[in-house]
Amino acid sequence: MQIRELSAEQCLELLKRSTLGHLGCVLDRQPYVVPIHFSLDAERNCLYGFSSVGQKIAWMRENPHVCVEVPEITDRNHWTTVLIFGRYEEIDDTPEHADARQRMLDLLQERREWWLPATAKLGSQERAAVLIYQIHIDRMTGRSAARDR
Ligand SMILES: Cc1cc2nc3c(=O)[nH]c(=O)nc-3n(C[C@H](O)[C@H](O)[C@H](O)COP(=O)(O)OP(=O)(O)OC[C@H]3O[C@@H](n4cnc5c(N)ncnc54)[C@H](O)[C@@H]3O)c2cc1C
Repeated sequence: MQIRELSAEQCLELLKRSTLGHLGCVLDRQPYVVPIHFSLDAERNCLYGFSSVGQKIAWMRENPHVCVEVPEITDRNHWTTVLIFGRYEEIDDTPEHADARQRMLDLLQERREWWLPATAKLGSQERAAVLIYQIHIDRMTGRSAARDR
C-alpha cells in the first residue's frame, strides 16, 4: 500500500464533497469525539455545523481548540482522510456574525436535512435546543492510500 500526502487543494476538494466528520474536543486532558455533519465555506476558510446544546458545546466553550477528521474510506487499502486543526466559535445574532450566519443559511438551503441529527433529543421525537457554529481552519493535512499494482 502506498500512502501519499494531499495538497491543500486536494484537502479542500474532499471537504467540499463531504458532509460527515468526527469532531474531537478536549477538557481537563480528557478527549471527546462525536460524529457531526458540517458544511465547508472555502471562501471563509471554515466549517459550519449545527449542534444540540450538550457536552461537546460545553467543552468547546471552555476550550475552543478542536480537531475534525473527515474520512472517505472505500476499503482498508483505499482511503483518504483529512484532518483539520481549528478553533470553535458560535455564530450568534450579533452584527459581527451576520455574514457567517447568512452564508451558513445559504448552505443549509443547498443541503436540506443534513443537520437534522443535531436536533433530535435522546429517546424522543422532541427537538432539542440547537445552535450554529463555525470552526476556523488553522491548518489541515490530508493523506490518501492506494494498493500497489
Ligand atoms: C451520522 C451522525 C451525524 C450526526 N450529526 C450531528 C450534527 O451535525 N450535530 C450534532 O449536534 N449532533 C450530530 N450527531 C449526534 C452527535 O454525534 C451526538 O450524539 C450529539 O450531538 C450529542 O452530543 P453531546 O456532546 O451534546 O452529548 P450529550 O447529549 O450531552 O451526551 C452526553 C453523553 O452521551 C454520550 N454520547 C453522546 N453522543 C453519543 C454518540 N453519538 N454515541 C455514543 N455516545 C454518545 C457521551 O458519553 C456523552 O458523555 C450525529 C450523529 C451521527 C451518528
